[in-house]
Amino acid sequence: MSTFTAKVESCMPLKEGYQIVLDRTAFFPEGGGQGADTGMISSVRVLDVQEKDGIIFHFTDAPLKMGQEVEGSIDWEKRFSKMQQHTGEHIVSGIVHSRFGYNNVGFHLGEENVTLDFNGVLTTEELREVEYAANEAVAANVDVLVSYPDDKELETLKYRSKIEIEGQTRIVTIPGYDVCACCAPHVRRTGEIGIIKLVQMQKYKGGVRIAMKCGFRALEDYNKKETTVKALSALLSAKEEELTDFVERLKEEIFELKGKILGLNQKIFQSKVEKLEDGCDKVIFFEDTDAVGMRNLMNLALEKKGKMCAVFSGKDGEYKYVIGSKEKDVRQIANNLNEMFQGRGGGKPDMVQGSLKGTKEQIEKMWDKL
Ligand SMILES: [Zn+2]
Repeated sequence: MSTFTAKVESCMPLKEGYQIVLDRTAFFPEGGGQGADTGMISSVRVLDVQEKDGIIFHFTDAPLKMGQEVEGSIDWEKRFSKMQQHTGEHIVSGIVHSRFGYNNVGFHLGEENVTLDFNGVLTTEELREVEYAANEAVAANVDVLVSYPDDKELETLKYRSKIEIEGQTRIVTIPGYDVCACCAPHVRRTGEIGIIKLVQMQKYKGGVRIAMKCGFRALEDYNKKETTVKALSALLSAKEEELTDFVERLKEEIFELKGKILGLNQKIFQSKVEKLEDGCDKVIFFEDTDAVGMRNLMNLALEKKGKMCAVFSGKDGEYKYVIGSKEKDVRQIANNLNEMFQGRGGGKPDMVQGSLKGTKEQIEKMWDKL
């Protein structure tokens, strides 16, 4: 039921908004792991719905008159999605319970995903098996039955239940798949759920947490993933089914190239160091390289020639630096540099590193004065 008529029984102003009670309602109050419905009651917006002691309170943005005849309408797209997710959850939990004996010990129906926590571990193959069986239940399009058995019947009935239930128990049965005590709305037949996709599984508190998407939510997820895969395929000029191999090869190539660059850099550094004049104790380099390259160059220079060496990488306004010495404590130099050029960094007596904001000219001038 997505629309209904009712009479306003009470309307109370709150700090923010209003609290309205109707003589009857189709709005679902938050419960059983499923969030409250939103929608409209005549001209006012329903933002939240809660139940207390059998009374359902609608929290709205505007008031309604007592005794007024109103028409309620539920945000059906949202509600239907929740029913798809929720009914899917019953099927998956029922299958996991009957095949592996694990209980659903936590359930959250979020905006993005539904998560299910089980108190036992499944393998990836078992997860696929559960997913397939759940989709078989959808294809079988069986009725989702609701019943209110009396205490005597309940005693003999085998059903899943997360909490101790007070008062009348509502049993939701999906024949062949699940029997569970639950207060929330579900779809009428399993076919309405659409696809049940288990999108993620991780170890959680000695068991597993499974993330799931059902129906239109799963379709949306499929579309997103398809867009990503197609974009990658076009970018890399590779067939979709070959993307994984392709990217693996790319990663290997990049790794090899990095190694080659490192080797080439080392040769360049060596020749630079060899060209240094004899007796040159204080060396400064401006070299476009990464942190490893900077340290390599510094170490080479210190080995071969200078007593103190600085390597700067970057451009005017943003330089990274490494300074080392075999004899001098270079921490004071770093402090001075940082002070002069709004820099950050430090280190040990024989090596400091950091970044600063000066220009090449300024840095060289300062270096000459040391
Ligand atoms: Zn339920």
